Amino acid sequence: MRKIQMVDLGGQYEGIKDQVNSSIATIMETSAFINGPEVYAFQKELEDYLGVKHVIPCANGTDALQIAMMGLGLEPGDEVITADFTFAATVEVIALLQLTPVLVDVYPDTFNIDIAAIEKAITPRTKAIVPVHLFGQCANMDAILALAEKHNLYVIEDNAQAIGANHTFNDGRKQKAGTMGHVGSTSFFPSKNLGCYGDGGAIFTNDDDLAHTLRGIVNHGMYERYHHDVVGVNSRLDSIQAAVLRAKLPKLDEYCNKRREAARKYSSAFNGQEHIIVPKTVNGCEGICETCDCHVFHQYTLRITNGTRDDLVKHLGENGIPCGVYYPIPLHRQKAYADSRFNESDFAVTNQLVNEVISLPMHTELDDEQIALITATVIGFVNS
Ligand SMILES: *Cc1c(COP(=O)(O)O)cnc(C)c1O
Repeated sequence: MRKIQMVDLGGQYEGIKDQVNSSIATIMETSAFINGPEVYAFQKELEDYLGVKHVIPCANGTDALQIAMMGLGLEPGDEVITADFTFAATVEVIALLQLTPVLVDVYPDTFNIDIAAIEKAITPRTKAIVPVHLFGQCANMDAILALAEKHNLYVIEDNAQAIGANHTFNDGRKQKAGTMGHVGSTSFFPSKNLGCYGDGGAIFTNDDDLAHTLRGIVNHGMYERYHHDVVGVNSRLDSIQAAVLRAKLPKLDEYCNKRREAARKYSSAFNGQEHIIVPKTVNGCEGICETCDCHVFHQYTLRITNGTRDDLVKHLGENGIPCGVYYPIPLHRQKAYADSRFNESDFAVTNQLVNEVISLPMHTELDDEQIALITATVIGFVNS
């Protein structure tokens, strides 16, 4: 059996090697390292794939979020609501722009932001909601868009973990994750579902004016060479990363399906286990079926409910099975984001999840033998 890896980028590379290597060789020969034709071609291809009017490539997913917030003209003191249970980048850029992060709890079954908690947190100073489509599945966008419309708020989708996922609205309409709000962001960090071989990111919007603003911000606030109309940043996707992404994008749906297939096998092996809760998929399809196109399983995350999570992590490690705890500490308890206004009782779910969650190996190259060993090892230990 091949060594089990949390993410197997080497195995995936085998399938795109020729194209990646020849594109990179061409870039070397033409020296078009920044804003070359590969970047523009990738931008167009991603716009087509997502069905969104504008993709603005940038340097990473954290920049993408920051630039989205800058482009919307959010100002110091504006309150931005986001989830307590997510990667810190989301709240980091809110704080960096001197906006006020307002953290709210999540649902215990989907791990996504709790709609009632958002509603409770809205004040006259609230300007935006940042749903994070955590672990590869969209937050409840029907409810979030309705709340935003009612209270005149921007919706900024942090789509770093769910590129390729679909959201099925209550009326049956489908839309790609990251394209439903006023603006969306993603990351092409190597381990993300669409990852390059370094750092990369992108911003999505259907708003022509906002797209124009964002294209200036990523490039030092320039709309005309050496005319700096707004304060910008330097945040570009380089040509080599774009070439890697161009090789992978046509395979993204196939990659997503392989992840779903692995998730389906995991969940069927864990079926009926008393102390294990498998991830819930929404959108009516109950998700982990052959035809599902909602969840893209950036992570496959279990809840271990009998208090053995930490010991399980250790046991898996000792048995050569990598795993991860995403996330071990709620954002509201991180030193950098502590705020006397946060009330522990508002974070009951996140406080529980951080002690229960464990993410198993998830990538496009997992085979049946590996999945059988992983599930048997987990089940054996949790029941011992
Ligand atoms: C990875 C990630 C980011 C940041 O992306 P980088 O490209 O690493 O800057 C932001 N938000 C979430 C939810 C992420 O998972």
